[in-house]
This record gives sequence, structure tokens and C-alpha cells, in this order.
Amino acid sequence: MTDHTLSIDLHLHSTASDGTLSPTELVNLASENGVQVMSLTDHDTTEGLAEAAIAAEKQGIQFINGVELSVVWEGKVLHLLGLNIDPQHPSIVAGMVNLRRQRDDRAERIAKKLAAVGLEAPMEGAKKHAGTGAIARPHFARYMVDIGFVKDFNEAFDRYLGRNKRAYVSTEWPELFDAINWIKEAGGVAVIAHPLRYKFTASWMRRLLKAFKSAGGDGMEIICGNYSPDEISTSIGYALRFGLQGSIGSDFHGHSNYSKQPGHLGKLHTAITPVWSQFILTV
Ligand code: AMP
Ligand code: MN
Ligand code: MN
Ligand code: MN
Repeated sequence: MTDHTLSIDLHLHSTASDGTLSPTELVNLASENGVQVMSLTDHDTTEGLAEAAIAAEKQGIQFINGVELSVVWEGKVLHLLGLNIDPQHPSIVAGMVNLRRQRDDRAERIAKKLAAVGLEAPMEGAKKHAGTGAIARPHFARYMVDIGFVKDFNEAFDRYLGRNKRAYVSTEWPELFDAINWIKEAGGVAVIAHPLRYKFTASWMRRLLKAFKSAGGDGMEIICGNYSPDEISTSIGYALRFGLQGSIGSDFHGHSNYSKQPGHLGKLHTAITPVWSQFILTV
């Protein structure tokens, strides 16, 4: 089987961040869907990886350690996937400790703003959904839906949690270039997650991809979640133009906001070098 025809999903979330399935449940679902190679890429944490690796071994799935880092470039928040990282590497470990602190501080500030608009016990509510994991905005959103403060998840983002909405707080995430370095130092591959979701103009996109490539970035997602065929074509064009490899991932969170199921993705165009050619076992 060639690199391009594998059933592969390199962007998935579990309860270690804002997914609703435990790492084991997620791996089992991926296995039911016929996934052969998968990564777990929780936001700013590697805490689910050990459990997922054990479950994957049981299912005969090749498991790739991953993470989805929140980073800043030119004042804009982006998501950067680190695939095939060594989660024990000191650069990654230090980065995770800092990010956890930033997420905890941010959650307190979001909670304060939500309390100010009349939401009761926002921190306790978000923690009910986050468990021991780091708090992400969807945990607040789910609590707000639970108690009927908003009618659905989208309203929670549209009115309160989305960028520049009433309970939005800006956060000093790590710089893109620093995060690329952590990933590379930890033996990983740096991939820009869902590049078209940032709604950059074409000229900002070109600036980003050029800077990313010069800084040692490896690839970009070409097929992600519910990208349309047009978006996939646009992404192929960018990857070819800037000499970037391509990745695919569902960005599955286990809740209904993301329609794609683990592994239910198209195949990578054969003109694009798969990022996974750098790390998968030959099957
Ligand atoms: P955080 O990492 O805490 O900033 O939360 C970001 C996560 O919230 C994303 O990874 C998505 O899972 C979710 N999200 C962000 N924006 C929206 C939105 N407008 N509607 C629904 N979910 C969103
Ligand atoms: Mn998320
Ligand atoms: Mn993301
Ligand atoms: Mn994601």
C-alpha cells in the first residue's frame, strides 16, 4: 500500500482537551472506521498520548504522538500540529507546563467575564466538562448549553466566547517560530492546522507560508474536517507553491459541530508529499 492510499487521520481530540471521547474510546472508534495510522492532537497537552498508544496497540493501529499548539504569528492566533514528537523531550515538557498555566489563567479571566454577564458558577461548570484536563472554550460553551444560558454551542461562541465577543480574552500564546523549534527539537514534524480557517487574505496566507517554510516548517493540512473540494484545491496549490508537505485529519472532537468522523477523509493528491512519509512504518 502506498503512502497516499493509507487510511490515516492525523488530527483528533480526546477528553485530554476539548474532545468528548476518552483516548481509548477515540482509538476504538477510529479502529471501527478502519483507520490504520492515527495521531492524537489535543490542544496544548500531551496527557492523552500514553493511554491512546496502549489502545492503538491493542487495535493494531500505528499510533503517532501529536499535539495541537496554540501559537501567535504577527499578532494572529494559529494552530500548529506537532506530529511524531517525543512527548518526554524537555522542550515539549517545558512548553506544556507553560501552556497549561496560560490556559488556567485564561479560563479564570473568561469565567470572570461570563460571571459579569450573569452566568452562574462558570468555572465550576467548565470544570465539569474538562475534568482534570486543561479548560478550553468549548467546555464553557457546553456548560452554557446545559443550563440553558444559550440555545446551542454556536450561540455560545457567537455571543460570548468568539473573538472579540463579550467573554473573549486575548492570550499570549507562544510565538509560531518558538513552537516550530520545540517540535523540531523533540524530533517532530511541524504542520499548520486548517490553514484556511483563519480567513486570511491570499496575501497574508502567502506571507505566512513563506515565513513558516523558512523557519523550518514541514507541512500544512490539505484535507481537514469539513473542507470543501474548492478548499482542498486551494490548499494543494499553496503546498505546491511553497514546497510544503501535506497532511490530512478530521479534527474530530466527538460532538456535533464537526461533521467528519475519524478516518472519513479523502485521499491526499498524489502531487503532494505526505508528511507521514517522514515517520510511518511501511505497511
Ligand atoms: P480554545 O483552544 O480554548 O481557544 O478553544 C478553541 C476550540 O473551540 C477550537 O479548537 C474548536 O474546537 C472550538 N471553537 C472555536 N471557535 C468556534 C466557533 N466559532 N464555534 C464552535 N466552536 C469553536
Ligand atoms: Mn478544539
Ligand atoms: Mn485547531
Ligand atoms: Mn483541532
